[in-house]
Amino acid sequence: MNLPLYWQDQTTMSWRASVLESSTDGIMLDASAFYPGGGGQPPDAGVLEWDGVFARIEGVRGGGALVPREGDPVPPVGACVVGRLDDVRRRSLMRTHSALHVVCGVVYRDFGALVTGSNMEPLSGRMDFNLPEVPDGFKSELERVVNEEIARGRAITARIVTRDEALADADVMRTAQNLIPDQIEQVRIIDVQGLDAQADSGTHVASTKQIGEVSITKVESKGKGFRRVRITLPNA
Ligand SMILES: [Zn+2]
Repeated sequence: MNLPLYWQDQTTMSWRASVLESSTDGIMLDASAFYPGGGGQPPDAGVLEWDGVFARIEGVRGGGALVPREGDPVPPVGACVVGRLDDVRRRSLMRTHSALHVVCGVVYRDFGALVTGSNMEPLSGRMDFNLPEVPDGFKSELERVVNEEIARGRAITARIVTRDEALADADVMRTAQNLIPDQIEQVRIIDVQGLDAQADSGTHVASTKQIGEVSITKVESKGKGFRRVRITLPNA
């Protein structure tokens, strides 16, 4: 199986590739580390360089075509390019995404609440979950325990399993009931060891220690049982 570069090695920030298709609408490479977006994590940005010129990449379309900034040159088909991610943005997104998985694991383990959605920008994110009663001191207790778990240095690993293996894994399925479409045969699992495992396509740091100290900035009520937790992370 040919995995995209952002799955083969989540730390890849620059690489060489050949241009398969190219227009101002989108550039397809034979290998790309640009995360296309999904699962609440926005797409990567960065640049492609070739023959002393460069195109700034502002996003990724469905199918993986890279979207150049309007007015920037685009590489010819067949050109060898060097791709470089905006690594500050990407690393921030990796830390933020991993932080949300720690929050997810803690709200389930300690408060019995199931996550219903999440979204993020670099260094800030939100997570929605179902919690009928919010206990006194919930916000500060959640923040304390989340940071305790981060400080433990739990390994965060990625593995690919078959759809049937994913469906048979109770930990994975508690967050994924409706999130594994029928046509998907292989499922990528992100495992914050001992705390949280879920089907996930995003990019993550290798240890919770790399997340840094998380602030729980807000706990909002959005309706019956519907809570929204907002988090922020410091600059690395
Ligand atoms: Zn995720």
